[in-house]
Amino acid sequence: MSNVRIFAVVLVGLLALSHPVAATDGGGSGDSLSALARPDLERSEIIDIGDNLQMTLALSQPVPWRIFTLDDPARLVVDFNAVDWSGQDMQAILFSDYVSEVLTGPFLNDWTRLVLRLSRPMALETAALVTGAEDGGATLKVQMRTVDHETFAASAIAPPGAVIAGAPVTDLPPPRARQRGGRPLVVVLDPGHGGIDPGADAEGVIEAHVMLRFAKDLRGVLEETGRFRVVLTRESDVFVPLEERVTVARMARADVFLSLHADALAEGRASGATVYTLSQEASDEASRVLAERHDRADLLAGLDLSDQDDVIAGVLMDMARRNTTPRADRLAGKLVAGLAERTGDLHKRPRLRAGFSVLKAPDIPSALIELGFLSSAHDRARLTDPQWRHLAAMGIRDGLLQWAREDAAEAELLRQ
Ligand SMILES: [Zn+2]
Repeated sequence: MSNVRIFAVVLVGLLALSHPVAATDGGGSGDSLSALARPDLERSEIIDIGDNLQMTLALSQPVPWRIFTLDDPARLVVDFNAVDWSGQDMQAILFSDYVSEVLTGPFLNDWTRLVLRLSRPMALETAALVTGAEDGGATLKVQMRTVDHETFAASAIAPPGAVIAGAPVTDLPPPRARQRGGRPLVVVLDPGHGGIDPGADAEGVIEAHVMLRFAKDLRGVLEETGRFRVVLTRESDVFVPLEERVTVARMARADVFLSLHADALAEGRASGATVYTLSQEASDEASRVLAERHDRADLLAGLDLSDQDDVIAGVLMDMARRNTTPRADRLAGKLVAGLAERTGDLHKRPRLRAGFSVLKAPDIPSALIELGFLSSAHDRARLTDPQWRHLAAMGIRDGLLQWAREDAAEAELLRQ
């Protein structure tokens, strides 16, 4: 590693010092700097000092970085290119009342992200990556101070490329004509969560990982029939915002969209597969909490939710949805039947509704399958068993085939 590069990294810290609230880019895609750094949590801490928050994060080597704050909810975001966060328990270094939650993981491209959710508005005071340690390591030192919300809101701006905005709706291709059985159906499978948002994590079983594996297996089972063409919203452990997942479905001109999950429920009593469709009114409190939690995780990870409330677009969407809703309802019914047939028992109420953002494509019949709940030991055992997962994949395949036949028949009837 050249001294020039080390100097450049230090300089970034100095820039952050002189512009304490500005978004600062850690700079160039340095080759030797791009290697993965490991955090050393033994020498790291997040603590309060009076009105100040202080984070000390020891790294095995300096890497390009950038730091900024985001509002709604208030967050400190530090991006690194890159730090390997796998297997690190960040709760172990958290001794601050100003931080309610710490998230880490892959973000986009080569960047990995650290997010501190702030329990009150705080402004960046200083941020510097101190290098030159004998062991080649580096230490990120960050100071924040409490401010009023107006000051915070004015300073909470992301640098370009650091938040994800969905593709403009005008760039999307028109939806495919409704299927009549004459061509393979385009099925978009959406393995839930990923990257900085791992989803549920119970006894070392991580929802994002299990669902990616399941989605890939299910793709094989579906394509084997020759009746489906399958697109995945993510092929690896990366963060994909909910809105982007819907965009993937629309870009693929999907006939069907299936989001795949295995969440945890706080009460820990829920078990068995459940199929959700979109509704403003949630079937029950647990469903509402589940949908809200997914939106929240999305938001924390770095989505820019600039509300694009367009009345006319809203009316058009409602019309499209009126046609799509009964088709999605039938789809969910067939999926429940298929899963019940192949795997035996389901959740005591296997067919529910809630306001999941990922189901909001107005013209694509969409369903969210909670294949099981990781909070249940019984479900965990099934979800980690490849044989059980294969049965579940066959159940979903059966449901899709059955639905596709009836849906095509209805399309023929409507044509007259
Ligand atoms: Zn989930």
